[in-house]
Amino acid sequence: MQSNAVTQTENLTAAIQRIDANHHWHPFTDTAALNSKGARVIVRGEGVYVWDSEGNRIIDGMAGLWCVNMGYGRKELIDAAKQQLDELPYYNHFFQTTTTPAAVLAQEIASVTPGDLNHIFFANSGSEAVDTLIRMIRHYWAVEGKPEKNVLIGRKNAYHGSTIGGTSLGGMGAMHKQGGPYLPNIEHIDQPYWYGEAGDLDEEAFGLKAARALEEKILEVGPEKVAAFIGEPIQGAGGVIVPPASYWPEIQRICRKYDILLAADEVICGFGRTGSWFGSQTFGIEPDLMSMAKGLSSGYMPISAVAVGDRVANCLIEKGGEFFHGFTYSGHPVAAAVAVANIRLMKQEKVVDYVADDIGPYFQQQLRAVLADQPLTGHIEGAGLVAGIALVKDREAKQFFADEGTVGTLCRDHCFENGLIMRAVGDRMVLSPPLVISRKEVDELCAKVRKCFDLTLDSVR
Ligand code: PLP
Repeated sequence: MQSNAVTQTENLTAAIQRIDANHHWHPFTDTAALNSKGARVIVRGEGVYVWDSEGNRIIDGMAGLWCVNMGYGRKELIDAAKQQLDELPYYNHFFQTTTTPAAVLAQEIASVTPGDLNHIFFANSGSEAVDTLIRMIRHYWAVEGKPEKNVLIGRKNAYHGSTIGGTSLGGMGAMHKQGGPYLPNIEHIDQPYWYGEAGDLDEEAFGLKAARALEEKILEVGPEKVAAFIGEPIQGAGGVIVPPASYWPEIQRICRKYDILLAADEVICGFGRTGSWFGSQTFGIEPDLMSMAKGLSSGYMPISAVAVGDRVANCLIEKGGEFFHGFTYSGHPVAAAVAVANIRLMKQEKVVDYVADDIGPYFQQQLRAVLADQPLTGHIEGAGLVAGIALVKDREAKQFFADEGTVGTLCRDHCFENGLIMRAVGDRMVLSPPLVISRKEVDELCAKVRKCFDLTLDSVR
């Protein structure tokens, strides 16, 4: 048993790092490598900034983990949690009971979802929402008398969470190598990564080609066996891969042609990130179902949801009987109260319009301006307040680094040392700041990005 007592000579950072290293097993982390240097201890947040235990102020270019959309320290969200904790900290929604926050939140979500996605099922994380999608979609086809229509098609390099269902549907090679075997009857097609994988094709042609890979897969499997296609409007955790404009309309056409459900995983794109309430609206997708999490509560409380359109919902509600699925904390009243306050605050402050018309275009333009002559910058893609930047060895020759991930990690470390949180996905640097970021803060963010890219260049030269 390790001693966790804080010794007199140890400062707070060292004490927390030691306790953390002794007992805390971090997600998606090489724990041995982390413990050899100690985790940075984040102690406070305000607006677009967080502070570590050493007093360093850091601009959060990732909004936590793509989630603190309304920024840190919002009194409206904190008060909503406090009030709900006082009134009713918990009740469930299993036994023919409801709670006010869950009912009101379902209505609030339905007020911003596109089309007829009016039926809301609650879970706690994005992964659970994705698992809910999988079970709901397969159950739908079974109730429709087509149980053999149960194959789901996802994409390579897609991220749909880390439960068995989410990992199976996702296309992360490294994840598939651990903890399997994964779910059967799941197929993956190539991602629509134009800059990295298109060869000589222009964006329009490549978008169509990438979408038609879905049709090929459907024909290979047999349309009578394919239940749904699932994709993130923009692949976030895969490195912010923005599909060409031709991609989603063609995917939509193919799904309709073969009577295959289309599910959008909006866990990152939802709640304003791309300049619409949902990424589906930015890209003209008309999904049958959508998963959402993160920005739903601005990350203040863990809560997720699946929004279901009339076709699937009416079938399951009218003909499906009891749906044997749900979680103790589905629609947790405190999380739901915070999410209600979050959506109302977003509406009140017109945050989606701000991202679409003002700060999103400004951010995209400033980022391109500061990196225009930066030699490591191969390509920038993004929409609204999300962006991905490919780091390359030679931008003219479009030559990537051989040992993928090394330069990205180096760059990420320079960012941290210089008061900026930016994430590396291989050699792609990604940004997803809080939606409430000001122009002045965008300027500061972009200046830091430039500085850290230059430091990275010095390190690799
Ligand atoms: N789906 C997408 C598109 C995501 O980006 C994520 C997380 O980043 C998930 C699902 C999983 O969400 P969670 O980590 O809340 O389980």
